[in-house]
Amino acid sequence: MADKRYESVKKLFDAKSAKVETNRGEAYYEKLFKQCEDRLSELRELTPLKNRLDFKETIFDEGVNRRDFMKWASATTAMLMLPSVFTPLVAEAAELMNRVPVIWIELSDCAGNTEALIRSDGPKVDEIILDIISLEFHDTLQAASGHQAEKQLEEAVEHFKGKYLLFVEGAVPMAMDGLYGTNGAKGETFKDQLIRLSSDAAAIVAVGSCATFGGVPAAAPNPTDAVGVMDVVKGKPIINIPACPANPSNMVGVILHYVLTGQVPELDSLLRPKFAFGYRIHDNCERRAHFDAGEYVEEWGDEGAKNNFCLYKVGCKGPMTFNNCSIIRYNEGVNWPVGVGRGCIGCSEPDFWDKYAYERPMSNAHIKAPTGGVEKTVDEFGLGLLTAAGIGIGIHAAASIVGGKKSNEENQ
Ligand code: SF4
Ligand code: SF4
Repeated sequence: MADKRYESVKKLFDAKSAKVETNRGEAYYEKLFKQCEDRLSELRELTPLKNRLDFKETIFDEGVNRRDFMKWASATTAMLMLPSVFTPLVAEAAELMNRVPVIWIELSDCAGNTEALIRSDGPKVDEIILDIISLEFHDTLQAASGHQAEKQLEEAVEHFKGKYLLFVEGAVPMAMDGLYGTNGAKGETFKDQLIRLSSDAAAIVAVGSCATFGGVPAAAPNPTDAVGVMDVVKGKPIINIPACPANPSNMVGVILHYVLTGQVPELDSLLRPKFAFGYRIHDNCERRAHFDAGEYVEEWGDEGAKNNFCLYKVGCKGPMTFNNCSIIRYNEGVNWPVGVGRGCIGCSEPDFWDKYAYERPMSNAHIKAPTGGVEKTVDEFGLGLLTAAGIGIGIHAAASIVGGKKSNEENQ
């Protein structure tokens, strides 16, 4: 199963990243390769952080053999939009993950991202890597509580000043000067704690839709005035990994990229890594042929549903949503929402709860590509192939796209 998954993931990412490689040219990758080699030899000299599991021992104990591991490394290299020559470096970076300290705090949330991180009965490489990273502090997973936990946090911050990655899960309530959420024995507000811990971090990784864009806590009428991390923290590198929950593969991708290059990955206009959010759900959906053919589920449980037809008419927001879950899927690559017959609700987009989480098509879709401006051709939306049954949607979508383009031009 793991073998097959890595092969298909690699094939899909290879096809997508070929364009990026050509665009950047050989000189760029030669320079990056040298930079990665230097970075890894520096990390190799560092002692693994205390009490950490040994990567090789752990991974082989869990039943992953060398061949599977190299397949994972190859698929992950493609996912990170790097040429295949980087595969041995990615494999080595995975082994050196325990040299970079991570501090994880939870604010207003349901802990769903932490759940996604730990939920596995047969861990694959991504999950094992998350086990061995140097997690110096985690509000929910650690055994310590109260003053003891606070002490542990302060010691980690002091010891790894300027070097740790701060992972943040959950939104930041801003109403009443942040009093809707406090952490720790001293009752420090989420807002103040976030600002304080961010100032000593190397970079901040906002995980899940709440930490990135406010998520469900920010849904109307948003009584706590909840916002995402990027609305509070200024002057620091921020990487957004939205989705509800964020995919553990993307968390690993971000840490791995940082270990490998010492830099944050290339980001889109919403601070999301392009390697994960440069893909539109709709373009990699197994039901896309049905969209193009005008074959839709009209209501839950009908013949269309039984035939796995397109879910656009029952509210799928795949055409407006950028995420790689249609490629890497969830639960060890077993499936994803559209695969099991539930339309995408756009959980990796800002304000998804208010804008997208309902079971009908959008009446005023403005389909923008954060990686490359507003979409221009109706062909990209499948109109060229629509049959009579689909024309209503096609015309509506085309009008929306043109409308989006026009209003975008007006705003420039
Ligand atoms: S509308 Fe949704 S179900 Fe239909 S092809 Fe697009 S992403 Fe897939
Ligand atoms: S299919 Fe859509 S709603 Fe579901 S996880 Fe992916 S982006 Fe989120």
